[in-house]
Amino acid sequence: MEACPLCSQPDSRPLCRTRDRSAPAAPSDWLIRRCLHCGLGWTDPPPSNEQIRQAYSGGYLGDAAKTMEEFFSGKLQRSRSWKNELEKVRLVESYIRKGAILDVGCGDGKFLWALDPQRWQRSGVEYLEEVVQIVRGRMPHLDLIPGDIWKKDLDQRRFDVITLWHVFEHLPEPQRVLERLHQLLAPEGLLILAVPNLASLQARWFGGRWLGLDAPRHLFHYSPRVLRRMLLDGGYQIQRQMFGSSRANLHHLKHSLIHWSEDRFGSRLPYYLFKWTLFLVNWAEQLSGRYGMLVVVSKKKE
Ligand SMILES: [Zn+2]
Repeated sequence: MEACPLCSQPDSRPLCRTRDRSAPAAPSDWLIRRCLHCGLGWTDPPPSNEQIRQAYSGGYLGDAAKTMEEFFSGKLQRSRSWKNELEKVRLVESYIRKGAILDVGCGDGKFLWALDPQRWQRSGVEYLEEVVQIVRGRMPHLDLIPGDIWKKDLDQRRFDVITLWHVFEHLPEPQRVLERLHQLLAPEGLLILAVPNLASLQARWFGGRWLGLDAPRHLFHYSPRVLRRMLLDGGYQIQRQMFGSSRANLHHLKHSLIHWSEDRFGSRLPYYLFKWTLFLVNWAEQLSGRYGMLVVVSKKKE
């Protein structure tokens, strides 16, 4: 598909080839194409339904039952990964301290667990239904909806905040998604999108080895420019565009460097030798404004 799925302009060019490294038994190659007009990137051709089903099989979300045990025992709250959730809570609460919140693609719901239940009505939508079943069993007070945002159950609901933490890039028909979320937001409701940044230094340097491409799970690849355009066209007002978590940024840098090391040298040794440079890259990304992780906070405009 050479015409841009967003702006329909015919001029696009192949950016790189990448492969699905989570399926080493059946590695598949994917082309990433970029529109020369609006800058949107997409995985070309889009994966079939069967390829998508396969791409999420094999414990994509980890062991939800175990994570929940760790939450109830307090071990999770002492882990580094929990800090990511607290960072997200702080970001949301710097705008609004209570209300109805919907986390799209909530996985096991960790982000929702981190929100104060006294102040938040917490809902989540998750495509992997088996994960929803596991969590519902232990956390009946969480409103978890198996499936997607198009579920009829949601039609009459309105939320003060909707979050998509590294989920938007997984969804087909992104303009329709923004339209649906606009409908699900209360007046002046807040939409928070976190995505990998295709215009970052790490995307450029690592090319097809960049972890942020994650084909075929990531269907679209966004830059700040194209994301802003889509939000404005979709009836949102941009509140703030910022760098995402530095922990996530370093995680992406680390795994991209491992891919490079294994591809080029067949071993992780060069990764260990060059690991220290990642802090410099992280720093260069901050200075240049071309950071790997992008967060855009926007508000529904009537
Ligand atoms: Zn385009």
